[in-house]
Amino acid sequence: MTHHAVRIHQHGGPEALSYEAVDVPDPGAGEVRLAQTAVGLNYIDVYHRTGLYPVPGLPCTLGMEAAGTVAAVGPDVTDVCPGDRVAYAAPPLGAYADARIMPADRVVPLPTGISDRQAAAMMLQGMTVEYLIRRVFPVQPGMPVLFHAAAGGVGLIACQWLNAIGATVIGTVGSRDKADTARAHGCHHPIVYTEEDFTERVREITGGEGVPVVYDGVGAATWDGSLACLRRRGMMVSFGNASGAVTEFNPGELAKRGSLFLTRPTLMDYTADRQDLLDSANALFEVVQRGDVVVEINQTYSLSEAAQAHRDLEARRTTGSTILLP
Ligand code: NDP
Repeated sequence: MTHHAVRIHQHGGPEALSYEAVDVPDPGAGEVRLAQTAVGLNYIDVYHRTGLYPVPGLPCTLGMEAAGTVAAVGPDVTDVCPGDRVAYAAPPLGAYADARIMPADRVVPLPTGISDRQAAAMMLQGMTVEYLIRRVFPVQPGMPVLFHAAAGGVGLIACQWLNAIGATVIGTVGSRDKADTARAHGCHHPIVYTEEDFTERVREITGGEGVPVVYDGVGAATWDGSLACLRRRGMMVSFGNASGAVTEFNPGELAKRGSLFLTRPTLMDYTADRQDLLDSANALFEVVQRGDVVVEINQTYSLSEAAQAHRDLEARRTTGSTILLP
């Protein structure tokens, strides 16, 4: 049977993405072959495409997240069986495909209440929110929190989950429409940072005190303002670079601004252990099944249109989650 995947042969813009026929081998020891029904689009795919983050080699099939059914298992696989519905949000790259090989210990069985499309739209972004707000800096009820790009994929899940915890959610967004979207998903104070100074607004909202934690996936454009929003001994969680990477930083700044903490975490390190992966996924399934978090699939493309999906994501035209359908 002919399979298809979206590959890059060299780093570059969206035009580097090429929809091609590919062979999918039988699974080896510890591996499964997946028949994929939905693929998640994430900003990290852009970093892999441009070369900001390394890929294992070229040509390379992009993508970190998908859902589908186990079509075959190799020797020594005990975690899943053929026919199981599963999803994943992890390397190795290769999710932009209708079928692929995955290590069996990186896939997560899906409960009946979660559809393949929902899973593909939320595993990576949702487990990211889980580890950021529960493990990197455990947010407590009543705490004011600043979350950048609040109407994005990670952002909309974060607003809802933080709201369910009882935090005061302050979120930045690129337009007034996005402010409405964020507000409708639990963001108490959306700030249109393309029109107003978000640092001043955060100080105003917190009565001059600042926030104990900033979650910053925007990077270069917000870096300095984010540090200025923190109260004494606050935590800067820098987890992405949608506007470009922060390349230079003097740790003395942390002292000057009030003995701040800085961390640059990744989902991979918080789900490297299989039990951590399952715990994170189950916490996400729970908040979704309770209705605390609704996963908004606001853009759907066919897999062959991956280049257009990248253009829209980079042009800030998307909100919530995006999936690609093989
Ligand atoms: P989003 O859906 O949030 O899309 C990115 C958003 O960033 C845009 O919609 C836009 O929102 C905002 N943005 C601000 N400046 C720019 C710019 N110059 N160019 C493009 N976008 C900009 O993406 P994801 O939810 O997939 O990811 C959000 C961030 O989280 C990314 O940086 C991603 O890499 C990071 N991430 C990190 C993980 C980790 O473990 N470290 C795991 C998962 C994601 P607006 O218009 O409102 O400003």
